[in-house]
Amino acid sequence: MNWIIKQNENQDKNIDSSKIKETGIIGSLRWWYEALVRGYGGYACDPSNSECKFDYDTYEKTKNIEDGLEKVCPVCRLFGCTGWSRRFRLEIKDAQKIPLCLSATSKSDYRHTKLDNLWWLKQIYKKSEKVFFDDNICIEIHTINKINENFDEEDIRNMVLFLFAVISKQGSIGAKIQNGFGVFDIVTVIDKNRLSRGLEKTKELAEIKQGGQVNFPSFNDFFSLTYSVSNDSIYIQPEKFFGTLNSLLKNRFVPSGFSIKYDLRKKIKNDSTPCKAICSNFEYLCKGENEKMVRKTISRFLFGSDKDKFSAKINFTHLYKDKENENYLLNVFGFVPNKVSFENKTLEFNIRSIKNILYIEFGNPYNEEYGVSCLSEVIK
Ligand SMILES: [Zn+2]
Repeated sequence: MNWIIKQNENQDKNIDSSKIKETGIIGSLRWWYEALVRGYGGYACDPSNSECKFDYDTYEKTKNIEDGLEKVCPVCRLFGCTGWSRRFRLEIKDAQKIPLCLSATSKSDYRHTKLDNLWWLKQIYKKSEKVFFDDNICIEIHTINKINENFDEEDIRNMVLFLFAVISKQGSIGAKIQNGFGVFDIVTVIDKNRLSRGLEKTKELAEIKQGGQVNFPSFNDFFSLTYSVSNDSIYIQPEKFFGTLNSLLKNRFVPSGFSIKYDLRKKIKNDSTPCKAICSNFEYLCKGENEKMVRKTISRFLFGSDKDKFSAKINFTHLYKDKENENYLLNVFGFVPNKVSFENKTLEFNIRSIKNILYIEFGNPYNEEYGVSCLSEVIK
């Protein structure tokens, strides 16, 4: 039984030109920006439960913009909240959309069974799903207004540019990061001075309202591992995992992120060795409870739950190529705290051990970055 999404020979019929939704990009930019602000020690509200609001009454009395912004967190100052509009907008030029062809015909005997794979894919993808894949997606940043005298329109442009640069180097963008999508490269050459000004201004904005929060992504807890994946990797073998791709995608992109994630989740759920490697108090936790339950808790925390919309702490991109004829690349990134309370347990993680559990499959990463210091790498 196969589950294949439309697969026409005629490629042209498959190509859609439609707009990438600005809201998806903005939502994702905001999520990353919150992590930046928290990484610099600033307070970033939880947008699903935000109390940030521009105080219009006070502003009317004093005509001082700062009085109005009193209860607005650094992130909302840039991205907007009740009574205060976003300081910039994005114009996204038409991008090419092509069908994502997936097939659940795994023949692998030691990992997925057909049924496993099919179930998993069906959870994530709707039929006739399409993805944006384009060498030249043009995004224009338009500033709408300054925040105040200290953050003028030029500063806002630099901050947004810096944010794009961070995401491009360290992660991915859009509403489907969890499913491996959203890898992009910035083609336009950006003046490094702009990026460093963007970084400085972001730090300055974070200082306006300090206060760390637990259980929210922060660059203090960030890691990014980049692997070069050899062509004999099980995730690349044609027809084994994900069927035939549209010829445009062929040799550039293997939609395998969810499969890599699935396998790792399974390992952590079923085996104590990777749990011991990554969770430093695993053995202590097992003294008080059934080991299987502890493993399940760890796996739920790290990989999220599609059912509860609980976001993953470790994300895997699909395999992709920068240029033709090079090895495929894989980026594994996310926010894993040292210590967290979850499902009535205190879990302690060793972020630098994540690469150990990926070693068997992918070897050593050729690039690894941890914590806030990786942000300075972006402006080098
Ligand atoms: Zn806010």
